Amino acid sequence: MLTLIKNAHLFTPKKQGIKDLLLGAGKIIGIGEYENDLHPLNSLIVKIMDAEGYYVTPGFIDQHVHITGGGGEQGPASRTPEIMLSQLTTAGITTVVGLLGVDGITRSMAGLHAKARALELEGLSTFIYSGAYELPTRTLTGSIRGDLVLINKVIGFGEIAISDHRSTQPTLEMLAKLGAEARVGGMLGGKAGIIHLHVGEGKKGLTPLFDLIENTDLPISQFVPTHVNRIDWLLKQACQYNLQGGMIDLTAGIYPQSDGVHAVDVPSAIERLIKVGASMNRVTVSSDGNGSMPRFDNKGELVSVGVGSVEVLWQDIRKIITNKLLSFEDALSLITSNVAKQLRLENKGEIKVGNDADLVFLDKDLNIKMVMAKGRTMLQEGKAIVKGAYEA
Ligand code: ZN
Repeated sequence: MLTLIKNAHLFTPKKQGIKDLLLGAGKIIGIGEYENDLHPLNSLIVKIMDAEGYYVTPGFIDQHVHITGGGGEQGPASRTPEIMLSQLTTAGITTVVGLLGVDGITRSMAGLHAKARALELEGLSTFIYSGAYELPTRTLTGSIRGDLVLINKVIGFGEIAISDHRSTQPTLEMLAKLGAEARVGGMLGGKAGIIHLHVGEGKKGLTPLFDLIENTDLPISQFVPTHVNRIDWLLKQACQYNLQGGMIDLTAGIYPQSDGVHAVDVPSAIERLIKVGASMNRVTVSSDGNGSMPRFDNKGELVSVGVGSVEVLWQDIRKIITNKLLSFEDALSLITSNVAKQLRLENKGEIKVGNDADLVFLDKDLNIKMVMAKGRTMLQEGKAIVKGAYEA
């Protein structure tokens, strides 16, 4: 069965104007203008959908989601539950990178790998980072190289914590060794092999990274710091890191009033990056979804501990578009093509012939109305029509 999507206002993420898309076997097999009577037997083999009035974009890629749950800092009762399929699809996410966080003890790599496989079986595309906050870190095979070479789903290591009271206070030597192992593992396994670094609110910020780049032979592309918009001065360092050629990842859903420190929301961080002349090709955004998220009132008092939502990813990108901070296509790149390139995700992040048919349909007000993952409709009229196991 082929699917013909007519009259889409297409962003690949590059702006293409009004186009038709032909899908088959979960792939994009044609982009252009097609007659409805594409084939004499079209009514049997072609399902035709009219996308007039919709923007059609690549499915979003979220490279930082605690798919098996996160948290635990307030004790066992604060461990967050596993994510469900429809939470991701309603947020427009068709490709997800799962990872462990602060808790590398009660959460396991085996559990993470199984959850990633489950989401893949339910229709998404999934990958994982091996590791957790700590160093030496968690692996599946007993070695960093081994995981990258032998386990398909492992594309890098993370989130390894630096500059955080919850990190293992890694020395430069420990980080250099990790980087070296991941570099060679990535080469041998044909993977990105990057280190996705959780940067906390500690004193040193990105200083260890600048030291690593200066004092080792590891390229700057090896280390990708995330949460860099969590404090004003950390973002300043991140601007510098980007200008030196490094890739940085911003965390969506961070708001200035949320935690008492001078956090910078993603749209404001983008404004700042533009101002200093940063390369937008080296910026990505992820949600940190499904981890625990403490909520504070105006006075900074802890009100409750909630679960971070992956929906913040599109909410922040949408704000960038509606506030005209970046063009529609450049804003989309932050959660599509930039991520796929950085993580070397084949057939992802771009609508082009041969790539997976991962698509998001947005209405004029940029609401997510429909989502297709590998050609399968997961969300229709804003409602999940495919549910994961055990979802109501
Ligand atoms: Zn983190």
